[in-house]
Amino acid sequence: MINVPEMFGELVFNDKVMKERLTPEVYKSLHRTIGRGKPLDLNVANSVANAMKEWAIEKGATHFTHWFQPMTGITAEKHDSFISPTGDDGVIMEFSGKELIKGESDASSFPSGGLRATFEARGYTAWDPTSYAFIKDNSLCIPTVFCSWGGEALDMKTPLLRSIEAVNRHAKRVLKALGNEDIKRVISTVGPEQEYFLIDKEIFSQRKDLIYCGRTLFGAQPPKGQEVEHHYYGAIKPRIGAFMKDLDIELWKLGILAKTEHNEAAPAQHELAPIYTTLNTAADHNQITMETMRRVAEKHNLVCLLHEKPFAGVNGSGKHINWSLSTNKGQNLFEPGKSPKENAQFLLFLSAVIRAVDEYQDILRASVATAGNDHRLGASEAPPAIISMFLGDELTDILNAMESGEEYTENEKTEMEIGVDVLPHFPKDTTDRNRTSPFAFTGNKFEFRMPGSALSVAGPSTVINTIVADVLSDFADKLEASEDITRTLNKLIRRTIREHKRIIFNGDGYSDEWKEEAARRGLSNLPKTVDALPAQVADKAVELYARHAIFTKKELESRYEIQLESYCSTLEIEAATMLDLAKKDIIPAVNRYVTELSESLVIQKKAGARVCIATVTEQDQLSLLFDELYKSTIKLEEAVSCIPNYKNDIEAKARYLCDTVLVRMAILRDTCDKIEESTPADMWPMPDYGVLMFDI
Ligand code: ADP
Ligand code: MG
Repeated sequence: MINVPEMFGELVFNDKVMKERLTPEVYKSLHRTIGRGKPLDLNVANSVANAMKEWAIEKGATHFTHWFQPMTGITAEKHDSFISPTGDDGVIMEFSGKELIKGESDASSFPSGGLRATFEARGYTAWDPTSYAFIKDNSLCIPTVFCSWGGEALDMKTPLLRSIEAVNRHAKRVLKALGNEDIKRVISTVGPEQEYFLIDKEIFSQRKDLIYCGRTLFGAQPPKGQEVEHHYYGAIKPRIGAFMKDLDIELWKLGILAKTEHNEAAPAQHELAPIYTTLNTAADHNQITMETMRRVAEKHNLVCLLHEKPFAGVNGSGKHINWSLSTNKGQNLFEPGKSPKENAQFLLFLSAVIRAVDEYQDILRASVATAGNDHRLGASEAPPAIISMFLGDELTDILNAMESGEEYTENEKTEMEIGVDVLPHFPKDTTDRNRTSPFAFTGNKFEFRMPGSALSVAGPSTVINTIVADVLSDFADKLEASEDITRTLNKLIRRTIREHKRIIFNGDGYSDEWKEEAARRGLSNLPKTVDALPAQVADKAVELYARHAIFTKKELESRYEIQLESYCSTLEIEAATMLDLAKKDIIPAVNRYVTELSESLVIQKKAGARVCIATVTEQDQLSLLFDELYKSTIKLEEAVSCIPNYKNDIEAKARYLCDTVLVRMAILRDTCDKIEESTPADMWPMPDYGVLMFDI
């Protein structure tokens, strides 16, 4: 029997372990650092490091590593062993406070977008004591931030921590103005639902596109796709079940609250959702989860695909970021209250999110823009590239009533109480039915559904926190200056609804009517990464991030460059892989089949028998398609050979790849898929969609 409570967190240097292993003074001092961001004294650091080392060695660790999240989207680590020579040919195991707190790292192999000139190759990592250290593969992993020597953030965690502080600061101000004097902290909470595909390793290894690009570049639709929606929540196959069981155990040991595992809509697609936790930890945990998924899959002779769109024609994979704010006393600020006062507070915070999402829709959109996610957003399975907010009919009615309130009474006080008295509790099932909304209020939290499955939680969460902090800071200014809080609060809510209600949409986000309606409302529609990314470096964004000290202009520009570079290299690799497959595998295979058909015709004619119409037709059609295939391969090859080598104009290069290369890739794929449909399975040079998605 597995003793889950005992196993849970056994590889984590968590609060319980700290209490056991640190002296009360050291423990207290560390807590002050964690809770209030006070700098850690070196003596304390030495004690903590020593306790960590002793504990880690008992758990079998021999190394330690600063574990960080560069802008590659995955995590990085550099391992050092604990050994230190004793001078008499022996070693002892050592780990100092200095080594715990700060590490030097050769930053030159990580993307920096021009922040770090090459001669300045060093960066440093610094311990983030707000996230627990843990053990992985015999290494003590210490969560850290990663910066250049100039102090610029080179990672995902630094801005995330800054945004957590920003929203804390301004939410606290608002709460205080509303009379909650005793709130010490406002905490951002996140529960990320993670979608993924599992396919057989043997089959995977026969697909170069999956190996190099993580997604299929060719593939005709199988006779059965996801039309028959019985996979969703369907019975889990034994092999998948064994994987999920193993995965849960690995995650639990790492203190990750893996909670639900189920099948998703597409064949071979699954989802894991943890129980929510504080944002910084949730982001770290999601990185570890993705990594663990890959590793555990290998053990089961499976491959875990985290790409946003591994297969055309079936759903892609998302990462739904469930986000909320709660006080240090455990009050969820997006939980509708039981009294008018609590409800007023709830509606004010809700208004802040409405305004933030509307005002900064383009920045929010940009936060999920990647080459892979472009295949997902706007397809009729994932949220459209247009940002809108779902609130549900009840809440929308209440807000509308509040907005028009002015017209039927002059006494704002009673009016507001009328408005909020009727505020019902929102059971989840009445608010969560709309699955097409990019940003949905789901009863007591928001669910941002646009992020792709491979994306770090940190990026979009940094944006949500920052934009909400920005609006809250404006609300706080007004409330702090007000002489009649109720009146000001009422005004703020009403004004927000009047000015920002265009962002609220409770209908079908997949429909064409919505696209037209959204255009009428003036909402931005940025379907592609190249359209979406520039918002991140526009003046509005620069000012927003500067106001809250999240990013400097330089940091923003470097990130923009890194994202464009990453976009370009993804597309370049895909185009090259496609050409490789077309020229070395597909064209020769089709050629063999065409030859076979011709030979068969010759034989039939020679034999003097009646020539089969089937053979003639097949040969005719195929040779036409074969010409097409050849032509579209050449066309793509030409496009690739003309990829501009703009060193200084990465935008133009990305634009070219999007408008020319990607378009020709689609044409080539289309022709190929048609040919695949009429080629014998044993002559096709790679496993088909049916095998990929159903043979497991
Ligand atoms: P769904 O129907 O979308 O699958 P779930 O109830 O399973 O919804 O919740 C999805 C995620 O939302 C879970 O990870 C859950 O822990 C998380 N969640 C619940 N409450 C909060 C909250 N207050 N803050 C952040 N995440 C939350
Ligand atoms: Mg969900």
